[in-house]
Amino acid sequence: MSDTAPAATQFADLGLPAALLEALNSLGYETPSPIQAEAIPTLLEGHDLLGLAQTGTGKTAAFALPVLAGIDPSLRATQALILTPTRELALQVAEALQRYAQNLRGFSVLALYGGSAFGPQFKALERGVQVVVATPGRLTDHLRRGSLKLQQLRFLVLDEADEMLKMGFADDLEAVFDEVPDNTQKALFSATMPPGVRNVARNHLRDPKEIRLHSGAKSSLETITQKVWEVANHHKLDAMTRLLEVEPVEAMIVFVRTKTASLELAERLEARGFAAAALNGDLSQQLREQVVDRLKRGLLDIVVATDVAARGLDVERITHVLNYDLPHDSESYVHRIGRTGRAGRQGTAILFATPRERRLLHVLEKATGQKIEPQALPSADAVRSGRLNKLATRLNSASEQSGALHEQLVHDLQELTSLDATELAACLLSILPGAKALLEPVADLPTAPARRERDSLAERDSGLVRYKVQGGRSNGLLPKPLVEALVKHAGLQKSQIGNIKLFNEHTAVYLPQLDSSTLNRLAGIEINGMTLQIKAWPLPPGETEHRPRHHKPRRDFAGKQPPRKGKPRG
Ligand code: AMP
Repeated sequence: MSDTAPAATQFADLGLPAALLEALNSLGYETPSPIQAEAIPTLLEGHDLLGLAQTGTGKTAAFALPVLAGIDPSLRATQALILTPTRELALQVAEALQRYAQNLRGFSVLALYGGSAFGPQFKALERGVQVVVATPGRLTDHLRRGSLKLQQLRFLVLDEADEMLKMGFADDLEAVFDEVPDNTQKALFSATMPPGVRNVARNHLRDPKEIRLHSGAKSSLETITQKVWEVANHHKLDAMTRLLEVEPVEAMIVFVRTKTASLELAERLEARGFAAAALNGDLSQQLREQVVDRLKRGLLDIVVATDVAARGLDVERITHVLNYDLPHDSESYVHRIGRTGRAGRQGTAILFATPRERRLLHVLEKATGQKIEPQALPSADAVRSGRLNKLATRLNSASEQSGALHEQLVHDLQELTSLDATELAACLLSILPGAKALLEPVADLPTAPARRERDSLAERDSGLVRYKVQGGRSNGLLPKPLVEALVKHAGLQKSQIGNIKLFNEHTAVYLPQLDSSTLNRLAGIEINGMTLQIKAWPLPPGETEHRPRHHKPRRDFAGKQPPRKGKPRG
C-alpha cells in the first residue's frame, strides 16, 4: 500500500464564491470529499448530473454548495427544489443548507413534508423562499393547490432517488418533472442504480455527467482486524472511553471529519485524563511534527486527526485506529487504517457507525476485501472486569520490581496502624489514584436506535396510533395504493396519514384513531388482489409518548428560524 496519495483538491479550487468558502472554513471542513471534488465543478458549469453516492460521502454539500452559488438571495422566488424520501432527510438537508448559507443575506430555505399542518407551510411559501426541500407527496399536494410556483426554478435535485422509487413515489416524481421549466438544471443522487432510477435519469436528465466513486484497489491489510460498533452520534464519546477500557490500546489514532471536531474531541479526552492531542491542517508543519514525535516517544497515547493531517503517518506504537466519524470514501478508509499494523505488528481498526451508515460499510468491506465484524458495545460487566484486569496487570509487573524494602514498609505500616494485611491493602487501594473507578457504577450504553424506530418516535408524538396491515414487501404492497384506499374508505385526508413502514410480511401504518365501524369497512376492501386486514397494533409498554427534545420538528426554515451557528454536527 502506498502512502503517497496525490495532493488533495482544495475547496478554493472548485470555483465556489467567497461567502461559501468562508462558511466551510468556519464549519471546520478541511478538504472536499471525492464526490464534492467531482460534482461541485460539474454543477457549477451547468451540467446535469447523475451521482452514485451513499449517505456519508458528503453528497449533501456536493449539491447544496452549487445550488447556493447559483441562486439569487435577493429574489424571493423558489429557485431550487430538492426532493428527499423522508421528512428526516428533508430536515437534515434544510439544516445543512442553512449552515452553508450562513453568510448569504436574505437566504431562506423551507422544508415541506407530510404529516404536518399546511397552514404554516402556505404562509412561508407566500413570504417566499429560495430553496424548497420536500418529500414528493407533500410537494405534489402543494403543486396541485397552486401554493408553490416553479416558474423561476433553476435547479432540481433528487436525493436518494432509489429510496423514493422504493416508497412508491414514481408518479409524484413524474408530476414534478412535468412542472419544472425546461431549462432547469437537474441532479439525481442515488445509492444504487436499479432500472427504475436509470429510466428516470434517461428520460429527464440532459446529457448528464455521471459520477461514481471508484472503490479503489484492494489493499493487503492482513495485519489489521476490522470491527464495527453501532453507536449513535451523541454516545460516541462514552463509547470511546469504554473502548479504551476494554481494548489493549497502546497508542491510538482517532479520525474525525473536521478540524473543529479534532480540537474538540482532543480537549474532551484530555479533560477525561487521557494523553491526547489534535492533529489537523490548521497546525503548522512544525507543530504537526511535534505531535507525531510526542506520540512516538509515548508522551501522547491518542491523536485525534483529520484525514489530510494524518496522511503518511508512520508510528509503530499505534495499535488501534478508531474511525470516530466514518470517512467519505473507501480510499481514505484504507489510508486511515493503514496507520496501524505497521512493521509486521498486529493492528485493530474500529469503526463507529450510525444505523444510517450501514450501507457504507459494504463499500469499505469491498475495498479492503475483509469482513468488518460487528461487535456489541462492551457491557457494564466487561468494563468492570477490564478495569480489574488492568490493575492486576499493573500489580503483577510491580511484584517483579518490589523487593525487601517495600515489604519492610508494609510491616512498619502494620505496626503503626494495627491493620491486618487485607485491611491495609484495602486502604491503600482506596487512596490509589485510578482505583476509585473500580467501585464506580457503570451503566450499559444504549445502541443507536435504527432510523425506523426514530421515525416512529416522531409519529407517536403527533398523536397517531399504530395499525398493522397484513401483507408487506414480499406481497408487493406499496404505500401509495394503501394511502389511496385509506383516503377513499376511511374518510381520511392524505395529510392525516403518518408514516408507512413496509416489512416483509406486514406493514405498519400510523393513523388517527379509527372507530370500529371504519375498521370493519376497511376490512372488506381489496388492495393488490388481497383483502385488507388491518388492526390496531399498540406500541410495547414502557415506550413513552414523549419525543426527546432533539426530535422536535422545526416549524419552518423560512424567516423566523435563526440560522444555526457554530459547530458542525456529527
Ligand atoms: P452526507 O453524506 O452529505 O450525509 O455528509 C456526511 C457528513 O459529512 C455530514 O456530517 C457533513 O456535515 C460532513 N461533511 C460533508 N462534507 C465534508 C467535508 N468536506 N469535510 C468534512 N466534513 C464534511
